[in-house]
Amino acid sequence: MTDPLCCAPTRGETSSVCPVCGTTGKPVKLITLKALLTPGALATLAPERAYRFCPDAGCDVVYFAGGHTYAQADVKVRVYQKDRSTDVPVCYCFGHTRAGLELARLDGHAEAITQSIQGHIKAGRCGCEVNNPQGSCCLGTVKGLVTRLRDAARAGAGAAL
Ligand SMILES: [Zn+2]
Repeated sequence: MTDPLCCAPTRGETSSVCPVCGTTGKPVKLITLKALLTPGALATLAPERAYRFCPDAGCDVVYFAGGHTYAQADVKVRVYQKDRSTDVPVCYCFGHTRAGLELARLDGHAEAITQSIQGHIKAGRCGCEVNNPQGSCCLGTVKGLVTRLRDAARAGAGAAL
C-alpha cells in the first residue's frame, strides 16, 4: 500500500520563477506575508507553501508559490520595487522615502542616512522581516538608490527616482 502523502508538495519544491513574468524570486519568510498581507489575502495563505518575492518592476505579482500569487492590492503597504511614487519607502523600518533620500543627497547627507540605518541594524532595531515587503534588509536597496541618485546628478540627467 502506498502512502497517499508521499507525493504531496513540500516546502522548497515550488518553482523559484514568478508564474506571471518569469523573474526569479527570493524566498520570503511566512512571517513577512502574515505581517503584510491584507486581511482578505491572509485568509487564503497556505502556510505549508514556500513563498517568494517577485522583484520585477513591471509585474503586479508581489508573492508567489507555484501558481498561487498575491498582487500589490493584496499587500498593506506600497511595494518599493513596483511603485515609482516618490513617497514610497525605501527603508520601511525607519521611514526613508525616495523623496527623502533625494533631499538628503541635495543637502549632502545621503551617507548619513545609510550610516544611521547601519547603526540601527547594529543595535538590533531593524524589523525588515515584518515591515519590508521584500522581507529582507533594505540597506542594499538604499545604498543602490543613493548611488543612482548621485550618478544621475553627476550626469546632469536630473532625478533618477
Ligand atoms: Zn512577477
